[in-house]
Amino acid sequence: MKPAAFEYHAPATAEEAVTLLADLGEEAKVIAGGQSLMPMLALRLAVFDHLVDLRRVTELRGIEISGDTVRIGAGTTHAEVGRSEEVRRAVPLLSRATPHIGHFQIRNRGTIGGAIAHADAAAEYPVVALTLDAEIEALSPRGPRTIPAADFFTGMWTTALEADEIVTAIVFPARHGRCGYAIEEFTRRSGDFAMAGAVVAVRLDADSRIDHCAVGLFGLAPTPLRATTTEAGLIGRSIHEVDIEEIGRSATTGLNSVTTDVHGSADYRRRVGAAMVARAWRRAVEEASND
Ligand code: FAD
Repeated sequence: MKPAAFEYHAPATAEEAVTLLADLGEEAKVIAGGQSLMPMLALRLAVFDHLVDLRRVTELRGIEISGDTVRIGAGTTHAEVGRSEEVRRAVPLLSRATPHIGHFQIRNRGTIGGAIAHADAAAEYPVVALTLDAEIEALSPRGPRTIPAADFFTGMWTTALEADEIVTAIVFPARHGRCGYAIEEFTRRSGDFAMAGAVVAVRLDADSRIDHCAVGLFGLAPTPLRATTTEAGLIGRSIHEVDIEEIGRSATTGLNSVTTDVHGSADYRRRVGAAMVARAWRRAVEEASND
């Protein structure tokens, strides 16, 4: 099928883009890499009279490192994120998540802002943003604002963005201290969305006690999740005294949000999630221990 007819707009600045969104109202939608929106339009799962293309808005692209943060413009492609040496050094989890996103053709066009705004619960960048306590910078005709990732993902493909608001950048804290990071996901075929996945960020003190940890889950609920109770139970403990399989079980037990789908039963997907948490924990802690 082909998309229904729409009027195409190509603003040159972010301000022009949000002004257009406000003027055109609910019948308008922004398009960035088109890797999620175009299939939905082509299948007529979504119909918009106006598309506001962000690709000419050069101010939305690029990676800036400043002290303890890394700011990535919303229009930066997955491929650019994946290639960046600065990102590899300062936000290694983001670099490691990138090859899991679809296929290279998708990574060449898809943008980090599009992935964050699309908010697919099985996507990699939203769960990385949540796990690293990233901040989402947004712009509307009322001005800029910053939304913590913890408040951004509000439901299935739903975010805290207003209809006339765009993501302009995502700001990640740069790594510091004895840190380790890992992402693990289970897919039936390479490039598919994850059936269940986990990301772990851990920081150790000089005695190998857990100083900070974050356990993110994806593909297991309508939004990416943090296993906050599990995290709280790990702070201050020695890495040698924790039961890794138990961390996986604790992070996923009682997750009522997991649904049965064509890929497997809810119980199976929960158990796969537990295995992904355990694997990610093991790798993250190993990295931090060698830091
Ligand atoms: P678009 O498709 O252009 O837009 C997506 C949505 O975000 C739209 O609602 C649009 O209005 C909105 N949007 C875009 N940019 C902004 C902005 N700056 N501000 C506000 N709203 C905005 N993704 C994964 O994470 N993991 C996968 O494994 C994966 N596999 C895929 C496999 C296939 C076959 C395909 C086709 C896609 C896959 N994707 C996967 C999706 C891909 O990563 C998309 O690129 C990404 O989800 C959306 O980015 P985009 O720039 O293409 O956004």
